[in-house]
Amino acid sequence: MHELSLIESMLSIVREEREKHGMKRVIRVKVVNGALSGAVSDALSFGWECMTQEGDLKGVVLEVLDAPLKVVCGACGKPFTPEDAHYMPCPVCGEILGHDIESGRELYIDEIEADTEDCAAPEGD
Ligand SMILES: [Zn+2]
Repeated sequence: MHELSLIESMLSIVREEREKHGMKRVIRVKVVNGALSGAVSDALSFGWECMTQEGDLKGVVLEVLDAPLKVVCGACGKPFTPEDAHYMPCPVCGEILGHDIESGRELYIDEIEADTEDCAAPEGD
């Protein structure tokens, strides 16, 4: 499964960031997945769950945000958001082929949510 290697690299990015920012515990990771990234959001979520069953990132929640596809018409230059990534008629001139893809290929970590506070119980008796 293609997504598993993506998750592995995401996990190592999370570890690097945790190190860099001195995070105590990572809670949630938000990932932006473009419509044409080649990764299936459900497969990412499922794979993530499997790979965070144990270890130092156990229980970290993955949130996948689906980024819409945006293209610019190759014939008339009109930017638009096609509903279907496989059939993209331009709303102005009707051209189907040759559009430039502006966004939709991306797959990246948008945000890492973590505890930076010390979770130690307050002193006292
Ligand atoms: Zn057009």
